[in-house]
Amino acid sequence: MFGISEPNILEQGEAGDQFINEDQPQVRITRNQTDPNWIVDGVDSIEISYESNDRFRVEYWGYMTGRLWITHDGVNELKQTFLDDRDEIPGWTLSTELTELPDWFPVPDDIPSPVTCSECGSEVSVTEVTAPLSGGLQDRYCPDCWSSVRDGT
Ligand SMILES: [Zn+2]
Repeated sequence: MFGISEPNILEQGEAGDQFINEDQPQVRITRNQTDPNWIVDGVDSIEISYESNDRFRVEYWGYMTGRLWITHDGVNELKQTFLDDRDEIPGWTLSTELTELPDWFPVPDDIPSPVTCSECGSEVSVTEVTAPLSGGLQDRYCPDCWSSVRDGT
């Protein structure tokens, strides 16, 4: 699951109550949904928390929810699956600021750069762009242009 190999998954569980002791830093990865017409039926958010040097808790939610406990190698595998995406507009992004990444979480190889709005030419972050697919073409809109396009104004 999530590209984590079997030996690195220590335990799996159902989603439950929030853990009370949350003083450890967490890392959050979220699905970067840029196509408004695309319906997501999987997981859209993942949070990783430290429990010990070789035990990390992963909570995921969306259409599917649950928990996993993984090793430190598993954390690396998870990061490769979700954050080493080399598409210009990645499917997943790190919601935790790089400066707030705990030292047990590997820094992603690629930090996505802003893309250009096809309408007004301004630079827009990959998490704010709207990029509907139509007939194989993918236009990119900043939030302002997208609201005009969507409303047909
Ligand atoms: Zn624009």
